[in-house]
Amino acid sequence: MNKIEKLVIANRGEIALRILRTCKEMGIKTVAVYSTADRDLKHVKLADEAICIGGPTPKESYLNVPRIIAAAEVTGAQAIHPGYGFLSENADFAEQVERSGFIFVGPTSQSIRLMGDKVSAIKAMKHSGVPTVPGSDGPVGTDEQENIKIAERIGFPVIIKASGGGGGRGMHVVYDPKDLQNAINLASREAEQFFSNGEVYMEKYLENPRHVEFQIMADGMGHAVYLAERDCSMQRRHQKVIEEAPAPFITEEQRDDIGARCAKACVETGYRGAGTFEFLYENGRFYFIEMNTRVQVEHPISEAITGVDIVKLQLLIADGNPLTLKQSDIKVRGHAIECRINAEDPNTFMPAPGLIKMLHAPGGLGVRWDSHIYDGYRVPPYYDSLIGKLICHAENRSCAIARMRQALDEFVIDGIKTNIPLLKELMQDPVFVKGGENIHYLGNKLGIPD
Ligand code: ADP
Repeated sequence: MNKIEKLVIANRGEIALRILRTCKEMGIKTVAVYSTADRDLKHVKLADEAICIGGPTPKESYLNVPRIIAAAEVTGAQAIHPGYGFLSENADFAEQVERSGFIFVGPTSQSIRLMGDKVSAIKAMKHSGVPTVPGSDGPVGTDEQENIKIAERIGFPVIIKASGGGGGRGMHVVYDPKDLQNAINLASREAEQFFSNGEVYMEKYLENPRHVEFQIMADGMGHAVYLAERDCSMQRRHQKVIEEAPAPFITEEQRDDIGARCAKACVETGYRGAGTFEFLYENGRFYFIEMNTRVQVEHPISEAITGVDIVKLQLLIADGNPLTLKQSDIKVRGHAIECRINAEDPNTFMPAPGLIKMLHAPGGLGVRWDSHIYDGYRVPPYYDSLIGKLICHAENRSCAIARMRQALDEFVIDGIKTNIPLLKELMQDPVFVKGGENIHYLGNKLGIPD
């Protein structure tokens, strides 16, 4: 079909460069849109066209919907790729892109809306046979006795969450029935404030889970596949630090069982594009918590173990092509680990923007460095502190760890502080080396529990 001949990349940093690289391979022309603080970004220099869309704050530029759509109009592009973060999971944006006559590289706005509302997402998942967390199966209200009954059926502790929530905000754990209604009222007020939607629901609070997520690709035409799973349990304040694929201790039977259920849910909901089903995993069981309707930061580890270019598939699907990849074509090969390299103080975790005076990135067999930084690049203070992702792939987990240690040792980033010292330490951590731990492990080790 090839409707997409030119694409607007509505993002910045490493993911913008990642998208640009695949576009170049596919012969798709690229338009970079950038803020006044981002003139020196690598992909801005490499794109066929580049348009400054506003000031440094995200609101002025990367969240500025009219400017982004105007950029597509004036350059004659056919499609817009939102990357991750910014507008990537904004259903209104997806709708406006399509109403303006452009292709949104992602699911339909209806899918984003369905998954963005957690109560409706959980309902749809349950309907398709995806295992969910025992919960209220809908919003909870002001009837205290009724709520206590629900919580007792689920079993304390419970967690109160916002239906429209995101970013790990506004959640409350309740251990005692006498605290329940207060927590619900508080969570609802916070949800109203943060998300302009006061609806909250209740779930069993899992005390020591791991975070395991499944990567799905679906064509919206009745076909979907899963690209195995990732473990992202090494988190600090709900921010992922290290990810790996496949997840340690998950059997092939479990992968095929849960993966097939996720793929079925995509087919049944008419989902299109790349998507991630996030689960908490405890005592051998999976509990769905939410779906991310975009490409993820950690997608390269799934690419490494399956050999599939996820961004290429996103573009082919957006262009109206059916998915030709069959589940039987997808084989898990070896093990991959990703370390997120952040411009931050390794002790205080405060962002540390500034000038990169010297950069030597590692290389070699099975080493991938996805980053927009270079010698003389100044990391601006306005955005996320992620400056690159180091991905190491090897024949098994211990070889991948050995490769990651070696790669981290080779790194030289002079001029700014980074979290590389912490990552080096974690690659030697005996608990991580043995297969890792639950989502609280890293926070507790660093003395900053959630
Ligand atoms: P958000 O969209 O705000 O990120 P999630 O539903 O993904 O919300 O939850 C964020 C994090 O909160 C999870 O990664 C997990 O650490 C914790 N969490 C959420 N639900 C539960 C639960 N039922 N039991 C234990 N922890 C939970």
